[in-house]
Amino acid sequence: MAAMPTGRMMAFPLTLTHLWERARTYFPKQEIVSRLPDRSVHRQTYADFATRTAKLAAALHRLGVRPGDRVATLCWNHRQHLEAYYAVPMMGAVVHTLNLRLHPTELAFIARDAEDTVVIVDRSLWKLFESFGPQVPSIRAVIVVPDSGPAPDGTHDYEALLAAEEGTYAWPALDENEAAMLCYTSGTTGNPKGVLYSHRSTVLHALSSCLVDSLGIRESDTCLPVVPMFHASAWGVPFAAVLAGAKLVMPGPHLDAVSLLDLMHQERVTLAAGVPTIWLGILAALDAEPKRWDLASVRSMVIGGAAAPASMIEGFATRHGLEVTHAWGMTETNPLGTVARVKHTLRDAGPAAHLEARASQGCAVPFVETRHVDDDGRVLPWDGSTYGELEVRGPWVAQSYYGGVGADRFTADGWFKTGDVVTLDAEGYVRITDRSKDVLKSGGEWISSVALENALMSHPAVLEAAVFGGRHAKWDERPIAAVVFKEGRTASDDELRAHLVSRFAKFWLPDAFVVVTQIPRTSTGKFLKSKLRETYGGMLEGREG
Ligand code: AMP
Repeated sequence: MAAMPTGRMMAFPLTLTHLWERARTYFPKQEIVSRLPDRSVHRQTYADFATRTAKLAAALHRLGVRPGDRVATLCWNHRQHLEAYYAVPMMGAVVHTLNLRLHPTELAFIARDAEDTVVIVDRSLWKLFESFGPQVPSIRAVIVVPDSGPAPDGTHDYEALLAAEEGTYAWPALDENEAAMLCYTSGTTGNPKGVLYSHRSTVLHALSSCLVDSLGIRESDTCLPVVPMFHASAWGVPFAAVLAGAKLVMPGPHLDAVSLLDLMHQERVTLAAGVPTIWLGILAALDAEPKRWDLASVRSMVIGGAAAPASMIEGFATRHGLEVTHAWGMTETNPLGTVARVKHTLRDAGPAAHLEARASQGCAVPFVETRHVDDDGRVLPWDGSTYGELEVRGPWVAQSYYGGVGADRFTADGWFKTGDVVTLDAEGYVRITDRSKDVLKSGGEWISSVALENALMSHPAVLEAAVFGGRHAKWDERPIAAVVFKEGRTASDDELRAHLVSRFAKFWLPDAFVVVTQIPRTSTGKFLKSKLRETYGGMLEGREG
């Protein structure tokens, strides 16, 4: 074999430290705007961000945080959350973002599983933290962001901790494959599973989001991540924006349509990202008062996490001149996998075909590869009509779950099984037709139907229960429970709801119950939820709340 020629490129590590250094050096005057619980707006620069990030790292080190430790956040989107996103991984530790919409039982499970040592929590979320924090023995210290009052006794005040530090920190040299972030995804069965994002995966994902045919995030952008920073590292926007030197606008807890539109108007937002429910609300507000907000600055509204309906994409375009960028991703894919753009080859295909392409899940972004397979793992043709489970691979796709659980989601030849049932067409457009997993999504948040079913079936009057998604104008989907009673037994809707109320977050409770004599089943004995959806899926249509 011929000898390798001499001369190589540098093995320069792809770490978040470079993003921070770049923002500090090249964009010190760029702004980070945060909306506070009292609705006032706070402004700081990237120079402030850089100093405060170093101070936070010094304070965390003083509190005993060491490389590999998990530091949890229970926060809205704001500057302190962004500081934690950088300080923790840059010191070699791992940010674990806790989802503030989960039930305390689930939060306790997740924080225990992650063995969080320090938690950074908003004062405005203190009650939630109190409901599960004491059940997590690994937590050594609690830092409170004083967003709505002083830190409670026995905790550290975030701002007081920073005020006591110098503003410099000796960032360690890191291996790019070290863990940076830990995000949990809800499983189809059993417990939520953790996904560890590395520095490398996060940096490459951020770079990819700056490609023009992806999200095209650039220095001249003003980015508004509406998607909560506890979800899949807020789709990478906090990393891509800092990498590009873009202005960041953080909405805090005010996620209603009018508050968001006010912020978009006032801060001249160019790119905002969120789940369809948020955008449905925004579209309705714009339709009601089309002249109230000047949104001429907005170049892209990124929608993902659940399917963006074609009617919404069209409504924004035709009635308000606003462009939707529809994207697909998962917690396991860091998270962006595909983006729906109209390809050059479709240029002359006409407006209907363009809308169809925009409303699809789109094509894989560079370095993400897609295929779909049948039940036996055979790769299927890209003909636009053959259904199969989507599998993906790439440098920002999980290779395994935290703790090695869920190994059956990874194939022997190196692909991740998404659980989404799709078609792929000859151009590579992915279209999700169903989810193979028995969970449903309401307002962009997963609800585990299996968990609800198990709880319902523990009611003394219930023989069988199947929970499925009913179409809902506001929340996209809401749970409906089909129930078979034991012979001679019955229970009212209120009794069934009361049976669930102590175990689940309120938004998990079914909006309706239907009593049936038997649950339809597949040939292998599984509940046939598509049949239930077909029969009862429309019963919530017209409901507002
Ligand atoms: P999560 O890990 O919570 O982000 O959920 C990922 C799942 O959300 C995917 O497997 C899909 O089922 C669904 N999803 C995400 N984006 C889209 C989209 N654009 N259209 C349809 N479903 C989506």
